[in-house]
Amino acid sequence: MPKFIELPFHDWLVDIRRALHQIPELCYQEKKTAAKICETLDSLGVDYQKNIGKTGIVVRLKANEKGPTIAYRADMDALPLTEANNVPYKSKHDGLMHACGHDGHVTIALGIIRWLKDQEWQTKGCGEILFFFQPAEEGGAGARAILDTGFFDRDPIKAIFAGHMNPELPVGDIELIYGTAHAATNTIRIKIKGKGGHGAEPHHCIDPIVAGTHLVNQFQTITSRTLDPLDSAVLTIGEFHAGTAENIIPEEAYLNGTLRTHSPEVRKKAVSRIENMTKSLEAAFAVTTTLENIEGYPTHVNDAGVVDHIKCCATDILGPNSIKIGRPSMGAEDFSYFCQKWPGAMVGFGCHDPAKGFEFALHSPFFDMDERVLDVSVDLMGRTMIKFINQTTASK
Ligand SMILES: [Zn+2]
Ligand SMILES: [Zn+2]
Repeated sequence: MPKFIELPFHDWLVDIRRALHQIPELCYQEKKTAAKICETLDSLGVDYQKNIGKTGIVVRLKANEKGPTIAYRADMDALPLTEANNVPYKSKHDGLMHACGHDGHVTIALGIIRWLKDQEWQTKGCGEILFFFQPAEEGGAGARAILDTGFFDRDPIKAIFAGHMNPELPVGDIELIYGTAHAATNTIRIKIKGKGGHGAEPHHCIDPIVAGTHLVNQFQTITSRTLDPLDSAVLTIGEFHAGTAENIIPEEAYLNGTLRTHSPEVRKKAVSRIENMTKSLEAAFAVTTTLENIEGYPTHVNDAGVVDHIKCCATDILGPNSIKIGRPSMGAEDFSYFCQKWPGAMVGFGCHDPAKGFEFALHSPFFDMDERVLDVSVDLMGRTMIKFINQTTASK
């Protein structure tokens, strides 16, 4: 049975989350969201820097006594999706929705700050905690935008923590993943240029559709015949555009796809095969090809020591049966940039309750969370971070 924790400021958390839920904003446009964060920090009497990485906000919470520095990250952006839930706090922004739970993530970070204030951590504790409210997780690499400012290059961050809603688990349960947790992404854009003409006279034409279909089929052999079966990779060609009528051989065909991999070596090998196979169409079909390979997020790798620490704390706080050790996913997460720089780990916060209708996946227009997840996550992450600082101090 999962454990529920109710904080004395539960209603405050719910109010913030619902206010944010009504004002979802896309990558780097999180102005109202940033304003709400600033307003809340002002009410708590907490200083912050704003417009970091465009719309991000960073809080430096220092205890009086010196000690190690750690960090917590929350993402702020929403998705281009029309909310299908009929709730009083439904999105007021047409066509936009917090369907990935980032409204909850921001609320949890603000909640931890309030929790630390209530605990009088700054007078009783030691060290420093940075809170990154980052923009643009959903494809805009907001984490990198924050790091690229260079403002945090000299912060000796011992560990960075983050959490993400996990609608596959009930409130009170968490998911932890050792090592690789999310995939690296590459966007592949291919243009195949042939020679258009009459559908009845293929011998006078060069058909880019036939060449393209061969390419899509050849790509299926990359994961099945080129890569080690024990390595994970996915190549999906999600778009294939060509032609205007049934009796016209078109001039061009366009293929767009996504490559997901779990290691730099596999990523490199797969990209090289994609390049070679695309080029080989020129000899085989007399087409010309252009290929654009756009590198997306790197692999997200959790630090085993930080995961161990969270597991140990969660065992005390939530009970050993509440911890699920998960497997890596082929999804992507730009927390990866922080984890490349500092040892870090992300926790999956169980937030479902099918009995109450909270049973839909992330990115679904029906996604919603059991708001008790806010209390559990604030308490868990607050205690976990304090303990990390104290243990790091003690082991010096
Ligand atoms: Zn998402
Ligand atoms: Zn997300």
